[in-house]
Amino acid sequence: MANSDLLQRSLAAVWHPCTQMKQHAAASEALPLIPIARGKGVWLYDFDGRRYLDGISSWWVNLFGHGHPRINAALREQLDELEHVILAGFTHRPVVELSERLAGLTGGALGHCFYASDGASATEIALKMSFHSWHNRGRRGKDTFLCLAGSYHGETVGALAVTDVPLFKDAYAPLIRPAQTVPTPDARLAMDGEAPVDVARRAAAALASHLEAHHERIAALIVEPLIQCASGMAMYDPEYLRLARELCDHYEVHLICDEIAVGCGRTGTFFAHEQAGIRPDFLCLSKGISGGYLPLSIVMTTDAVYDCFYDDSTSRGFLHSHSYTGNALACRAALATLDIFADDQVLVANRVLAEHLATCLSPLAGHPRVRHLRQRGMIAAFDVHTDDPQFSQRFYRQALAHEVLLRPIGNTVYFMPPYVIDNEECTFLATRAMAALDAALPT
Ligand SMILES: *Cc1c(COP(=O)(O)O)cnc(C)c1O
Repeated sequence: MANSDLLQRSLAAVWHPCTQMKQHAAASEALPLIPIARGKGVWLYDFDGRRYLDGISSWWVNLFGHGHPRINAALREQLDELEHVILAGFTHRPVVELSERLAGLTGGALGHCFYASDGASATEIALKMSFHSWHNRGRRGKDTFLCLAGSYHGETVGALAVTDVPLFKDAYAPLIRPAQTVPTPDARLAMDGEAPVDVARRAAAALASHLEAHHERIAALIVEPLIQCASGMAMYDPEYLRLARELCDHYEVHLICDEIAVGCGRTGTFFAHEQAGIRPDFLCLSKGISGGYLPLSIVMTTDAVYDCFYDDSTSRGFLHSHSYTGNALACRAALATLDIFADDQVLVANRVLAEHLATCLSPLAGHPRVRHLRQRGMIAAFDVHTDDPQFSQRFYRQALAHEVLLRPIGNTVYFMPPYVIDNEECTFLATRAMAALDAALPT
C-alpha cells in the first residue's frame, strides 16, 4: 500500500477532527494528510518509509509512546478474559483495581471513581455531579459555574460553556449557557518586576471578589491545574491553586481540577494539583491514563459528594451513563500504564529527562523571534513573535519535513513528548524544531 491511496480514500470518507477539510484538498497542498502504517516508541512510520518523531504524544495521550510491549501484553491477556461488560449491575476486576489504585494515589481523598470514555464527558460529569449534589443538599440556587479566561475543558455543548476559546465556541454561542469567567493566573501577564507568584496572587484576588459577589449562584470553579494547555500552554504558579482552594472552601464552591492533559506525571508530580498541596472536590482524568491505547475518562470525587447522592430515592442518585462506561480493556490499559509508573519509577526518571529537554531547548532563549520559553515537567513551550497568520501551518509543515510531529497552537510551539524519549531523540526533536522554526519564518 502507498500513502497516496489511503490519503485519497481518507479525504473522501473520513471527516477529520479540528480541521477545515478544504485545507487538505490535494490541489492546495497547504496541509498534508499523512497515512500512518505503524508506530514504535516515539516514532510513527508512513507507508512510503518516512518517519516522524511524535513530539506531542499524539494529542497528549501516548504517555509511553507507541506499541509499548507491557501495555500490549496486558491487553492481549485481558482480551482472553473479558473485553467488556455492562457496568450497571455488574463489575469486573480491572475497573475495581483501577478505582482502588487511583484512590490510593490521592491518599484516599477521592475515593469514588465514575467512568466515561472521553475528556469532554468527564467535564460534563463533574459539572452535573457538582450541580446535582448541591441540589440534593437543598442548595437550588447554585446553578452556574466559574472558569478561567483561556480555559479549555472540551467541546461538547456543556463543556463548551466552561471553555474560553472563541474559535471553538463562537459558532455555537446560541446553544451555550455561558459560565462566568475570572482572570487567568498566566505567568506571561507579569508586569514589570512581578514574579509568577505575584500574577497568581493578583488573579486570586480577582477570584475572591468575584466569589464574594456571586458565590450563592456558583456550584463549582473548574481549572486546569498549573498549565492551561489547549489555549496555548499558559503556565502559572501553584500558589493560585492553593488560594483558589481556600476561597472555594470559604464560599462553599466546589473545586474541579481538570487534569485530563496535565495529570499522569506531565507536570512532574503524578497529579498536577499535588504541587499546591491541595485536593480538589472533583478530579477529571483522561488522555494519558490509558497510555493512549483506548478511550477512557474518569471523574474522581470525595465521600462528601458521594454521600449527597446516597439515598432511598432513585432520582437523588447520579443516573448518568455511557455505553462503554468502565470498559474492561481500557481499564486494563490504564492499569498497565500505572504499573509502568511504579516499576520504572517514571516520575524520578522524568526529572532527569525534563532537565535534558530544557538543555536541548535552551538555545531558543536567544532566538530573536522567541518569547516566553517555558517548561514544567514534560511540557515545554515558547511563543513566536510574528504577525504571519499562517505561521502555525507553516511551522507544522516544516516540522514534518524535518521528521518531527509538532502542532503549534496559534503562535505557541510546544513539546509534549512521550516519556520513553531518550536523550538522543530529545536532541533530535529540539534541533529539528529549531530548523523548522527558521524555515517557517520569513527571512
Ligand atoms: C483534551 C482536553 C479535554 C477534552 O478531552 P477530549 O477527550 O478531547 O474530549 C478536556 N480538558 C482538557 C484540559 C483537555 O486538555
